[in-house]
Amino acid sequence: MIKEFVCIVCPNSCRLTVSEENGEITVSGNECNRGVEYGLSEYCNPRRMLTTTVAISGAVLPRLPVISTAEIPKNKLKRCLEQLYSTAVTAPVQSGDIVLRDICRTGVDIAASRSIYRKNDRESDEEAGR
Ligand code: SF4
Repeated sequence: MIKEFVCIVCPNSCRLTVSEENGEITVSGNECNRGVEYGLSEYCNPRRMLTTTVAISGAVLPRLPVISTAEIPKNKLKRCLEQLYSTAVTAPVQSGDIVLRDICRTGVDIAASRSIYRKNDRESDEEAGR
């Protein structure tokens, strides 16, 4: 089997070819060893950071942006997104707060990527001139 990838480790964007023959996997097209690591990872176990939003109640905004604390196996992203679509949190939330632990048993947590006030706190702050 042969697969092609663009290495995204540095701006060179080398075009990698990963081939598997008789159980041996080889990477070509890389200008450095980091490309080999990237090519093998993309071929054997592609992973991605997950960013999306979840519902938040009692806040100044209707959705809270969230991000995974580590990369998640690509084949589990859809299930993780489905779980997050049915997840709701309550304001206030601080940036970095964990909103979901061990999503879909990946061992990865989901954290808030910004802080969001409670609706009334923001209005109180504005009224008080803070
Ligand atoms: S193979 Fe090396 S030089 Fe090429 S894009 Fe990847 S990290 Fe950059």
